[in-house]
Amino acid sequence: MRKTLVINSGSSSLKYKLYTMPNFEVDCEGIVDRIGISGSIVECSFAGKKIEDESPLNNHEEAIAKLLEILTENNLIDNKDEITRVGHRIVQGGEMFKEATVIDDSNIEKVYDLAKLAPLHNKANADGIKIFQKLLPNATNVAVFDTVFHQTMPPESYLYAVPYSWYKDYDVRKYGMHGTSHKYVSAKLGELMNVDVKSLKIISCHLGNGASLCAVKNGECLQTSMGLTPLAGIAMGTRSGDIDPSILEYMNGQTGKNISELTNILNKESGILGLSGLSSDFRDLTAAIQEGNERAIQTLDVYVTRIIETIGAYAVRLGGLDAITFTAGVGENSVFLRKMILERLSIFKIEVDDATNENRKLGDRKITSENSNVESWVISTDEEFQIALEAERF
Ligand code: ADP
Repeated sequence: MRKTLVINSGSSSLKYKLYTMPNFEVDCEGIVDRIGISGSIVECSFAGKKIEDESPLNNHEEAIAKLLEILTENNLIDNKDEITRVGHRIVQGGEMFKEATVIDDSNIEKVYDLAKLAPLHNKANADGIKIFQKLLPNATNVAVFDTVFHQTMPPESYLYAVPYSWYKDYDVRKYGMHGTSHKYVSAKLGELMNVDVKSLKIISCHLGNGASLCAVKNGECLQTSMGLTPLAGIAMGTRSGDIDPSILEYMNGQTGKNISELTNILNKESGILGLSGLSSDFRDLTAAIQEGNERAIQTLDVYVTRIIETIGAYAVRLGGLDAITFTAGVGENSVFLRKMILERLSIFKIEVDDATNENRKLGDRKITSENSNVESWVISTDEEFQIALEAERF
């Protein structure tokens, strides 16, 4: 049988999902965690069971070798050559990669070069490809970049109003993230509405720990909220989203903290966590709101206000609006947040259908009533499927 393995390789973990092709049947999925640190573990879930292997794993090569061994031992593959494609999630494709691309010796260095724009991610992603090249020499490695979907943005969307040489000489521009998710969700919406996605004006809200909005027209990205890095845009679990850039210099003067320290705070100690002082997890915020916690209520107000302002701006850019989609951890699960956002968009004549909004058993679904001029849908994102789909093109 022919298999596609989808890999998301991080600095100390590696998430994977194995498909039998060409029907995209999921064989197993899991994570190899704590690579290079004590307590390494491989988790593999298949056929309703979950196995765990706690052999020490000193580096990514040992981790991937162990994973392939576990897949073989559990008859998930007959032999390594069954895996004909490996689809890799790569965070940053820069302007160089405008579509999913087969990576081999001729272009792998370009993936490493882009680590200057995504230091935490691209190196680990590229290291993952190198190891698969070695361990599965017959497989095709396909890189699916998180930025590619946003490469259709016109210059007026991606240029910052800074000296043009920053863009030309240093690649400073908006790249956007979560592209694979926004692409999957917008295509799925077309299917669910039974219309060509190219005829729709969509605002896709990917609300997880990281969160971004994307304006989709003609099936392509017109504008998105993340920027050069995933720190930009709306407020997130721990990230600030957009702030006045002068705050950095001001807070440097006030606290003596340098740019790296302050940027770290903007990435890890801001957003919902920073404002509420409670947690980055939306479930904790919701519980605190139910107990009447004033700061939690204010935090939610900031979060929702940023989102509705962005939706308003994107609707203007799109020249109209057919649908708003919600996806990812918060977007798929928080009935209450979706209702709050949609109620504050009354200018568009949107009416929430509480029964469908609340009924998660319905899966992907429309959550607005027939009286609405703009539809809203909850769609579970499936980035792994989208990566397997892109890899299938080669
Ligand atoms: P990531 O960006 O890390 O991929 P996810 O898309 O998995 O994040 O989203 C994780 C977040 O989803 C959690 O931090 C939590 O805030 C939120 N979440 C998960 N389940 C629920 C729920 N039932 N209600 C509200 N929020 C939830």
